[in-house]
Amino acid sequence: MVSARATGDVALTEKSIATGRTLRQRVFSGIQPTGNFHLGNYLGAIRNWVGQQSEFDNIFCIVDLHALSQPTTKESLRANILGLANVLLASGLDPSESIIFVQSDVHEHTELCWLLSSVTQYGELRRMTQFKDKAGGKDEQVSAALLFYPVLQAADILLYDTNRVPVGEDQKQHIELTRDVAARFNARYGETFVLPQPDIKPAGARVMSLEDPTKKMSKSDANPNAAIALTDDAETIRRKIRRAVTDSGSEVIAAPDKPALTNLLSIYSLLSGEPISEIEARYTGKGYGAFKSDLAEVVISALAPIQTRLAELNEDPQVAQGILGDGAERARTRAAIKMTDVRERMGLGLG
Ligand code: ATP
Ligand code: MG
Repeated sequence: MVSARATGDVALTEKSIATGRTLRQRVFSGIQPTGNFHLGNYLGAIRNWVGQQSEFDNIFCIVDLHALSQPTTKESLRANILGLANVLLASGLDPSESIIFVQSDVHEHTELCWLLSSVTQYGELRRMTQFKDKAGGKDEQVSAALLFYPVLQAADILLYDTNRVPVGEDQKQHIELTRDVAARFNARYGETFVLPQPDIKPAGARVMSLEDPTKKMSKSDANPNAAIALTDDAETIRRKIRRAVTDSGSEVIAAPDKPALTNLLSIYSLLSGEPISEIEARYTGKGYGAFKSDLAEVVISALAPIQTRLAELNEDPQVAQGILGDGAERARTRAAIKMTDVRERMGLGLG
């Protein structure tokens, strides 16, 4: 039997009592170690995780099992896991505020995924827009893992009694499915899972591709010019922004018929903290060229401190390894307690 004493929960409870605060809401979110973490990941997810980590009881997961839903190799997965851990730490995730761990280090995720699949409908999974987008019409050839992705994601979230899931807009449908699955399980087996809320900020929730502003910026986009990677150097950032597609006309304004400019203005505003209307006013009559070259400098200086810390962390992989090892231990303890309850409710095993 696992003791709750060994977990961070007790420390958290004591901290809450000491500070006179009520128990903090549980936050869980994940990111795939699929390489080339980009501005969309940063503005839609990571930056929000960092900004609110002292308010909540946080668990952040490097979801390597999800990365298996698309073709990958052992070498790239290994390198991307550590690379992502360093990106998260360099962006400001603090292991004293947040549990940071690798999904496959906690076996309960896969076990709960299977159990939840019994209350998930095949039709629900086929209707997920992410499945349809990533399958690209080749449903017969893609891995079954791509179809199962939202069930594993539901397991990730429900395993930790999560209240809030800070994600980009693209994950909204998966969180809704998680709620449906949890409600169905609860109806069948009694109140077991907390129904989580998506936490999607109005700005930055959908950073678009630089090459096609109707598509979201994605790690898995085959075109390297579509996304600004958090690791891109200054010259690469300048080049990608210079060649980013723009809309017809020459005015720097955000409007429904100017999706490319709207995206670039939104990136500028999020990184500089300036409202879009002020940026528009400053570039009246100046054309796209001047705006794009200033935007490149805004992006370069916003990423510079992260890149400096990242270079230091990359020099010393043991720092991330230690944090992930400790995070896995803390996550495992919580997950084991939850799974004992779930198995018992479902009538599994011999008790
Ligand atoms: P992949 O193409 O491999 O799915 P991804 O870029 O979508 O990669 P994920 O690891 O799936 O990245 O998602 C990590 C987090 O980043 C999620 O919270 C997701 O909602 C968010 N996110 C991803 N792309 C964007 C984007 N373009 N704008 C805002 N948030 C995003
Ligand atoms: Mg994704």
